[in-house]
Amino acid sequence: MRLVLLGAPGSGKGTQATKIVDRHNIAHLSTGDMLRAAAASGSATGKALQDKMKRGELVSDDTVVAIVAERLGQDGIDNGYILDGFPRTVGQAIALDKVLAERGEKLDAVIELQVVASDLIDRIVARAAQAKAKGEPVRADDNPETFKLRLQAYEEQTAPLVDYYGSKGVLKSVNGMQPMDQVTTAIQSAIGN
Ligand code: AMP
Repeated sequence: MRLVLLGAPGSGKGTQATKIVDRHNIAHLSTGDMLRAAAASGSATGKALQDKMKRGELVSDDTVVAIVAERLGQDGIDNGYILDGFPRTVGQAIALDKVLAERGEKLDAVIELQVVASDLIDRIVARAAQAKAKGEPVRADDNPETFKLRLQAYEEQTAPLVDYYGSKGVLKSVNGMQPMDQVTTAIQSAIGN
């Protein structure tokens, strides 16, 4: 099964992706995680990535497409995968279509987590507080100021993907404002369990 998970920052993508991965035994390909790992490398490129992410800006299409294409060429995806946080622009979606076509693959579904933007800020503040309470590191971009910029990037650059995938007939929209378990159930029925 090959899936894309689409949703604003704080919409619960990471949490839901983990549940889908466990249930279907597929790989979790989070570009946020891949970019944070690349940013932590300490190289000049890593530092530039870190600066962009800290500012809540999107990394360039070329950079992220290259990272995803490389990952798709590696082991561990025979059973399928979920792309969490990719694509995030129409340019990335077109590049993904090309990579998939070259591999003779296609997406089974694009799951959109629909959320109310104004409620997300509370989720981000809660996520940062929870991480802190557990002694885990708090993401540098999980603060209200950067969050607003991430949300703006989503609305301007990523939201057009809803129409892009809608017109291809693969879009499954789910109400992401429900309690977490209900979101999971709704996703399961959208993708046929
Ligand atoms: P996430 O963990 O998905 O919230 O991503 C954290 C940050 O990584 C984003 O705010 C962007 O700076 C960067 N990022 C993740 N995925 C992408 C992508 N597909 N395109 C561009 N930037 C991305």
